[in-house]
Amino acid sequence: MSILVFLDQSEGQIKKSSLEAAAYGAKIAEQTGTTADAIILGNVTDDLTQLGKYGIKKVHSVSNDSVNHLDAQVFTKILAEAATSLGATVVVMSNNFSGKAIAPRLSVRLKAGLVSGAVALPNTSNGFVVKKNVFSGKAFANISVNTPVKIIALNPNSYTVTTIDGAAEVAAFAATVDTPKVQVTATNKVVGEIPLSEAEIVVSGGRGLKGPENWALVTDLAKALGAATACSRPVADSDWRPHHEHVGQTGLAIAPNLYIAIGISGAIQHLAGVNRSKVIVVINKDPEAPFFKAADYGIVGDAFEVVPKITDAIKKLKGL
Ligand code: FAD
Repeated sequence: MSILVFLDQSEGQIKKSSLEAAAYGAKIAEQTGTTADAIILGNVTDDLTQLGKYGIKKVHSVSNDSVNHLDAQVFTKILAEAATSLGATVVVMSNNFSGKAIAPRLSVRLKAGLVSGAVALPNTSNGFVVKKNVFSGKAFANISVNTPVKIIALNPNSYTVTTIDGAAEVAAFAATVDTPKVQVTATNKVVGEIPLSEAEIVVSGGRGLKGPENWALVTDLAKALGAATACSRPVADSDWRPHHEHVGQTGLAIAPNLYIAIGISGAIQHLAGVNRSKVIVVINKDPEAPFFKAADYGIVGDAFEVVPKITDAIKKLKGL
């Protein structure tokens, strides 16, 4: 058995969720008495030898301008070629946007069993069983993978990364790189904000905030905490906030270490996108709001009174 981890990069930098996948893949290698290699596509500015800190022995790099941006078909073909020529029996990647596009395609090409949304290391004591989230995070399933080649797409922020001393070997991988059928002509990035999908802390607002003119309540607290901002669907639908902030069943699914929900009722469709958060704090004036059932900590109170006090206390604590 040998492990191959796909590292996802954006503008030359390896994504945090891919470092989690690297550490997770290395741990499977340790568990099964083998080694973990990684593969990265596109021109990368990050120092790839640093992957050794996550337990990766060798990084195979396909530095080619045409794979700087994700094209799922082109990426899948390269990964299939790499997995086959390197003899990988387990391919690991993050279950992020790229992973969701690549893993099922790769599964077909390699005739490999796929577990998407894995949340724990495989149990290899009797077969190869991987725990994953099902029903929008309301339950877990243990999936037994019986194919010779296995693919695991790891949910972001579900595996705690530990680092070790070490440097990875870096080598060019000579892959057949097809011309992508889709060309990225421009990228308009939101600047000056912490990306929601990668944020460790998220402050989120709902219809309880009454209107966009009151959003300083959310953004001030987020700024004090170094957090990203999010919102419920009706807030984005009413154009109070941009759609990329909408979390839930039909929006982004996130799993930060801390999720603070202000004036959000906690409808099941909202919870579907946030219930994998490690700690949930709910601020709502209605003690019967459903969100309190999912909360680790709750404050029953008027957000307009409570939130500025929390923001001030955090600022004082941080000397801001
Ligand atoms: P409300 O339900 O109006 O709740 C506002 C809350 O604020 C209340 O609990 C109220 O007590 C509280 N409040 C009011 N004033 C204050 C105050 N001054 N201080 C403190 N608290 C206050 N929703 C999503 O969020 N994400 C999704 O992805 C999503 N997908 C959906 C998909 C489908 C198919 C459907 C049918 C619905 C979906 N919804 C989604 C909508 C969802 O069902 C809820 O309607 C929505 O989440 C409610 O948003 P809200 O909590 O902001 O508003």
